[in-house]
Amino acid sequence: MEAQNRLLVILGAGESGVGAAILAKAKGWRVFVSDGASIKPSFQEELGSHGVEFEAEQHTMDKILAADLLIKSPGIPEKTALMQAIRAKGIKVISEIEFAGYYSSAKHICITGSNGKTTTTMWCYHILKKAGLNVGLAGNVGQSFAKQVATAHYDYYVLELSSFQLDDMYDFRADIAILTNITPDHLDRYNYQMENYVRAKFRILQNQTAADFFIYNADDATITSQLKQFQTTTQLLPFSMNVAQNPGGFADQKQLYININKQQLTMSIHELALKGKHNTQNALAAGIAARLVEIRTDIVRESLQDFVNVEHRMEFVAKVNGIEFINDSKATNINAAWFALESMEKPTVWIVGGVDKGNDYSELFELATQKVKAIVCLGLDNQKIIEAFKDKVEVIVEAKSANEAVSFAYQLAGKDDAVLLSPACASFDLFSSYEDRGQQFKQAVRML
Ligand code: ADP
Repeated sequence: MEAQNRLLVILGAGESGVGAAILAKAKGWRVFVSDGASIKPSFQEELGSHGVEFEAEQHTMDKILAADLLIKSPGIPEKTALMQAIRAKGIKVISEIEFAGYYSSAKHICITGSNGKTTTTMWCYHILKKAGLNVGLAGNVGQSFAKQVATAHYDYYVLELSSFQLDDMYDFRADIAILTNITPDHLDRYNYQMENYVRAKFRILQNQTAADFFIYNADDATITSQLKQFQTTTQLLPFSMNVAQNPGGFADQKQLYININKQQLTMSIHELALKGKHNTQNALAAGIAARLVEIRTDIVRESLQDFVNVEHRMEFVAKVNGIEFINDSKATNINAAWFALESMEKPTVWIVGGVDKGNDYSELFELATQKVKAIVCLGLDNQKIIEAFKDKVEVIVEAKSANEAVSFAYQLAGKDDAVLLSPACASFDLFSSYEDRGQQFKQAVRML
């Protein structure tokens, strides 16, 4: 995109905003960064050292509305007065990923979905890296994509994309797109319309051509029905746990199969680095992508075995007196908790609760009845959980801190049982973030 000294305004001076500012400056834009809250000193320094003009704790309307192009942080909702004024003026609004895409000639492997994005992204990155490709990691994880485009030279990028980032993407094209699943989440940002959220996720497919690939979960009815209505020439690569796929990926109770380029990769699912059905799906998606960039099957197989997952996702914490403690603090919605419970093989004390995002707990009844021996609620308001499970699970207690929750769970669990923190809720009532919740949980377990 031609800069020609035009004005780019960036709203939000976090990792992505600062990265976009650095790239824009390097490409000849005039840049103004505006953040309604304070800006971290390290980011202020970075902006200053690149000669970028910025403001914190305010938005100067005149300056913002003078923009030729605007980049908005994915955290800023459309509903704000500021965004409405920008829209009314007809200023083009894009995401940092879209902007960086103008200047990147690398191959882009892009991952979206309601759950499993980070795990699949990291797993895919791990395989490419292990195969010796010159690959960068960006999007919702790691360093800003724009900043890396400005300062590094990668042949490949593995990019994790949220629906909010996809909302402001127009011309960006994914060489390989992965859609892990679509289940209700963030509906508050989509006028409580599931179609809007589904459409946002499908933007990952837009601009794909017959030379590109779309890897998707064929067991997800929302995805398959939307795909039928979608015009695309991209090459479809489904993965499934129900039906064999060729080309594509398949796993049954024992084996995993990836069929790409007329070659088959097989391995036992027991050799996978991460356990549980959901992680088998993530492995299929990451493995297909790796095979599409022609990584040898033995390297893919090895990397599917030796990957170490990111924190807070079904993370084994410790075994104390025969009781296994698992930290799945990142499970902030029902679907993630469903997969966590589904993967439990021991009687489980389940720590659940926090800020409810409109959860329908009935989806978890069957698993709770089968697998959960006791519930420890960990939230300020636990009434909805207690109501939902009182006839399903014999013991339900309430805790108001991670310490208390771990201590109750420890008392309720017996030898060879498991304690699972998989809250199905956001964390902001008692914790500053899901990371904080997971850290406090792990700390409490280690103190036992
Ligand atoms: P995201 O980046 O989409 O939030 P993560 O990989 O961080 O996804 O995982 C979030 C939560 O969802 C974790 O609790 C994890 O155990 C669970 N999860 C991971 N992969 C899947 C999947 N394919 N389907 C459903 N749940 C998943």
